[in-house]
Amino acid sequence: MIKIDAPLAANDDAHLKKLCDRQPWPPHYALWQAAYAGYRSHNGNPWYIAPTAFVPDVSDQQTALYESQSSSQRIVMIRRMQLKSCPMCGSSVTGTVDHYLPKEEFPEFSLMAANLVPACSHCNSGKKGRTFRGATPNERFIHPYFDTLAGEPLWLTRIIPPYEAAQFEAAPLPGLSANHSELVTFHLRHVLGTQFDRNADNLWATYPQYLRDEVGGTAPVSPGRARKEVARSLRTSILTSGENSWNASFFRGLSEDGEARKYLARVARTLTATPLPL
Ligand SMILES: [Zn+2]
Repeated sequence: MIKIDAPLAANDDAHLKKLCDRQPWPPHYALWQAAYAGYRSHNGNPWYIAPTAFVPDVSDQQTALYESQSSSQRIVMIRRMQLKSCPMCGSSVTGTVDHYLPKEEFPEFSLMAANLVPACSHCNSGKKGRTFRGATPNERFIHPYFDTLAGEPLWLTRIIPPYEAAQFEAAPLPGLSANHSELVTFHLRHVLGTQFDRNADNLWATYPQYLRDEVGGTAPVSPGRARKEVARSLRTSILTSGENSWNASFFRGLSEDGEARKYLARVARTLTATPLPL
């Protein structure tokens, strides 16, 4: 979840106009242009935008256009945008393009830059699939181009005991409004998959050693020192990966969980050398 400046409307309009100069598109230009304008006036919100019915049905051809232009410069630029983490899910990788409104349901937006968001390969191929909204008007995905809240801290990772086999739960940040909380909950539930759990597992398993390395010596790591180190890890994660990255969410959760920190400090023992086999 990262707030990105929306692509220029004029560029999308110019691209559509050029496309519609060629057959078979001229008769569809006005309707298509209106669909683009509707998308922008509702910020891509699927609760206000209905798929446009073109007559005759040209949805297959519209979807095929995306395939044929996916290597064009305007799409490659989105794919290669320099970002600290995936703007949809917060993972550490980027490099693909995701359709905010899925092209299977909204083929008319399959080439609209405002609907093409940089994302990680997991987001592009994973759990979200053709889902684009839930059961209530707050249940939709956060739009990186139009939802300003994507620039604010939105979530944290809760650590569920027993700590020896901890589990992790993504949760909206306490203090968000009820509407935003519902939006974030829906978003998290549909973008995070098993990779998120593995990343949290890994951070949890390696953090005691990190603490030991930072603190040095053999004395127990004090709760105060552990709190300081977690606060520092959170700042570093925000700086390097963004407010809503997986790592920032993990350390935000840990910074609010004294019991979990105490456990990590307790297991941050000096490693004893493993005797070599004779
Ligand atoms: Zn992602």
